[in-house]
Amino acid sequence: QAHLDRIAAVDGDIHAFLHVSDHALETANRIDERRAAGEQLGELAGVPVAIKDVLATEDMPSTSGSKILEGWRPPYDATVVARLRGADLVPLGKTNMDEFAMGSSTEHSAYGPTHNPWDLSRTPGGSGGGSSAAVSAFEAPFALGSDTGGSIRQPAAVTGSVGVKPTYGGVSRYGAIALASSLDQVGPVSRTVLDAALLHDVIGGHDPLDSTSLTDAWPSMAAAARRGATGEGLKGLKVAVVKELSGESGGFQAGVKQRFDETVAALTAAGAEVIEVAAPSFEYAVAAYYLILPAEASSNLARMDSVRFGLRVQPERGPVTVERVMSATRDAGFGAEVKRRIILGTYALSAGYYDAYYGSAQKVRTLIQQDFAKAFAQADVLISPAAPTTAFELGTLVGDPLAMYLNDVTTIPANLAGIPGMAIPMGLAPEDGLPVGLQLLAPAHEDARLYEVGAAIE
Ligand code: GLN
Repeated sequence: QAHLDRIAAVDGDIHAFLHVSDHALETANRIDERRAAGEQLGELAGVPVAIKDVLATEDMPSTSGSKILEGWRPPYDATVVARLRGADLVPLGKTNMDEFAMGSSTEHSAYGPTHNPWDLSRTPGGSGGGSSAAVSAFEAPFALGSDTGGSIRQPAAVTGSVGVKPTYGGVSRYGAIALASSLDQVGPVSRTVLDAALLHDVIGGHDPLDSTSLTDAWPSMAAAARRGATGEGLKGLKVAVVKELSGESGGFQAGVKQRFDETVAALTAAGAEVIEVAAPSFEYAVAAYYLILPAEASSNLARMDSVRFGLRVQPERGPVTVERVMSATRDAGFGAEVKRRIILGTYALSAGYYDAYYGSAQKVRTLIQQDFAKAFAQADVLISPAAPTTAFELGTLVGDPLAMYLNDVTTIPANLAGIPGMAIPMGLAPEDGLPVGLQLLAPAHEDARLYEVGAAIE
């Protein structure tokens, strides 16, 4: 009830939610009754969770921020949602996002932008700005996001929240409306590292319904966070600053760089050994990502065909053929950024250009993986600012796609390599008083290490 009251009080200004559940309270009350009857419930039983609208929920609309899916109710729950229900968490509602998770500000949502609770004139990040805003505005203690190129970590960074992109395959993608299948991962958003770990433990682990799901026996992330909270683990920890992401190059805000340098100094003072590593291929990461992502997205979005899901628009005049209905529907249902990426993607995949664009981008992806392998041979974790700037003003980047894409420079390499990444708060930038995020990266399968180190630094 407290969270529903909070939503009623502030969400008119923030617009974190696209849909608020009409039966969350009833679900919570039923859990209370079972607890009162003496049933042993899980650690998070009764805790409300906000769910990014990219995830299928059978009891709430799931639009992925697009008009083309307006009002669509999936016939099933995403695996992560089913696991929340199984652990007796309470789905609170669906959060706003850039259309089909394409964007870094929520301004590409078909339903209007979300506002950053720290300063309503600014973005809460994107694409998962609804989830990060809901958590930082105390509308929800927990949220789920999806991270294809940073959409959990960058929104967490600019709202002073914690966000984790798990190892690729560590959390099921079944029922997550696909953006780029080789990059997408679902993960937790919260206010503390331990909260994120508890949520990760609920949603993570093998899912036979996702063919890319790993069969690892994962350690408890919450246990790792609790171990880390003593701070003892920082002694002797090998930390590497990624030179290309350290803020030396252009585009990093002074206050972000300052907080990052202070964090490095604090780590050294706590007994960590901090070195610098070079990752020369990262220079090409944004370019490679913006070929691979549109290519995969153009293929995934082909299912929005006016027949199977959501919207159907009849052509205004002329014959009514399948192709013309499909075309009229996509014209009306997709926003400008989605159309831009579909066109880029189909071009990059077209015969004659495939090797030059998609093929080259895949080679860069391999080089980035090799850079990470070399870096992790020298260090336990890598660190960088989680985003190059604090929350920018709504309206400033939305008309400049390239500038918006460059905002992802810090987060994209982890997706291209499939490794886990975490954003945690590291104070406020002196020049604007807005949150700055630290990014931690660990080798694939080592998500628990992120929680241990993250909790130690927090
Ligand atoms: N900003 C990135 C993009 O626009 C992030 C997307 C994501 O992680 N879903 O593609």
